[in-house]
Amino acid sequence: MKGLKGKTALITGATSGIGQAIAIRLAQEGCNIAINYRGNPERAEETEEKAIQKACSDIEGCGVRSLPVQGDVSNESDIINMVNTVIETLGSLDILINNAGIQSEKASHELGSDEFDRIIGVNLRGAFLCARETIKHLVEQKRSGVIINVSSVHEIIPRPLYVSYSISKGGMGNMTKTLALEYANRGIRVNGIAPGATITPINEAWTEDPEKQAEVESHIPMGRAGTSEEMAAAAAFLASDEAAYITGQTLFIDGGLTLYADFQEPWSA
Ligand code: NAD
Repeated sequence: MKGLKGKTALITGATSGIGQAIAIRLAQEGCNIAINYRGNPERAEETEEKAIQKACSDIEGCGVRSLPVQGDVSNESDIINMVNTVIETLGSLDILINNAGIQSEKASHELGSDEFDRIIGVNLRGAFLCARETIKHLVEQKRSGVIINVSSVHEIIPRPLYVSYSISKGGMGNMTKTLALEYANRGIRVNGIAPGATITPINEAWTEDPEKQAEVESHIPMGRAGTSEEMAAAAAFLASDEAAYITGQTLFIDGGLTLYADFQEPWSA
């Protein structure tokens, strides 16, 4: 895709699922990749190996560089160190993918403030702080850049028992628009992707049980869950110059989940 070769991208939570797929896809497109991991360097090395293998499958000695970078996105000083390390080691930072995310299930009337803060701290506050540090660098260097926030269909679909997750993704949608407007005239584009039900470790409660997976998929108009690679393709498009005139948008990649699936068959006439 246009404009990705030679750019440097930092992907948070890049050791599994959607983040790993985005890291691999961006490397394939010729980006240098900084692979953020929280606690497991072996998983980051695995992402690195897969990405370089894919990126170099048809080019002898391809020039893609990669850097595993530790950091807990709920910790402000970790984020500052992580962004500085990427810039010092890889020379710049052009693309931030705010992918790290967590969820937990609890009735709202029983949800403790610690648990509420923990989800918001990673999914929303962490994403904001990563964006802030990236934008600081871009503004100081007078560089253009791209931020992609990995949101969710729950940016707009309320999700009972997951109130902090829903709030975090709803907030992320507003953050995408606000930052996009604030930095549009400096060449910094901010967009989101909103996956529907996707086969990744966050969903192992149903991806590892064919019956439960069929139940989930029965609610999806296209009749199947999505893949991390499908999410990565959309992220790569939005990060590339093919999307040069797109900012402040969240692209829903959900097999039709946000289309009021109950209206697929007429029931109200
Ligand atoms: P996943 O569990 O495989 O990935 C989440 C990643 O975030 C993991 O690599 C994890 O280590 C990392 N992470 C968690 N806390 C972190 C922290 N404090 N600091 C740094 N990294 C941290 O699940 P996934 O499905 O690939 O999720 C990726 C993103 O996609 C999340 O933001 C999630 O909300 C979003 N999403 C997923 C789905 C889905 O169905 N899988 C649907 C909508 C949105």
